[in-house]
Amino acid sequence: MRQKLVVGNWKMNGSLQANQSLLKELSAGITDACGVAVAVCVPFPYLAQAQALLAKTSLAWGAQNLSEKDSGAFTGEVAASMLRDFACRYVLVGHSERRTLYGENNALVAEKFAAALAGGLQPILCVGETLAERETGKTGEVVAKQVAAAIDRAGIAAFSKAVVAYEPVWAIGTGKTASSAQAQEVHAAIRAQVACADVKVAEGLQILYGGSVKPSNAAELFGMPDIDGGLIGGASLVASDFLAICQAA
Ligand code: PGA
Repeated sequence: MRQKLVVGNWKMNGSLQANQSLLKELSAGITDACGVAVAVCVPFPYLAQAQALLAKTSLAWGAQNLSEKDSGAFTGEVAASMLRDFACRYVLVGHSERRTLYGENNALVAEKFAAALAGGLQPILCVGETLAERETGKTGEVVAKQVAAAIDRAGIAAFSKAVVAYEPVWAIGTGKTASSAQAQEVHAAIRAQVACADVKVAEGLQILYGGSVKPSNAAELFGMPDIDGGLIGGASLVASDFLAICQAA
């Protein structure tokens, strides 16, 4: 049995003051007894705050991006080892906003995936198709290529320490959610692709759904056999919504 995992992706939102009350509310609302693993991926400057407020709670924390490099003359970049210094457990790699707004391609995302693992972090590999790709029947092919790039670079065993998040680009921040059947179909295809290389790794792999998850649709999505939780953007900034989504898992 795979444990359900719900991860908040704050994106470029927050302030010391706002985070303080959000993290306090979340840590009061989430206990080990909930049976669901919960994490928040916060902007880099707030990692120390997340660590200070969450260290003795049931919540884990992580970052939203990292460098593929270890250290050196890379102005503005942040290495895996630095994220470990703040006891991050997770790091998002290849979020669609990184892919579309910052030019990250499958090869670079695969390098970041490998760098996260080498640095002792659990990468959450984000994959998903655009609306144009879905409408031209390319969803399966696009997602398979995104997953294959990481398998080719890091090896299939790496997926026993990684998480995959399927986030259809057309559903992110748009209010349009994939139907549970649409999401399940892609999740099952991802698991089948991993199973081709290693059945055991595929069985244990947590595959999250992301894209306009709300308290009202979370239970149905999380009830699908291959959906192991969610990656939550907008709704992760509102304590009551995020807690309700965690409860649905
Ligand atoms: P959303 O974002 O929940 O606001 O659609 C999800 C994500 O981008 O991870």
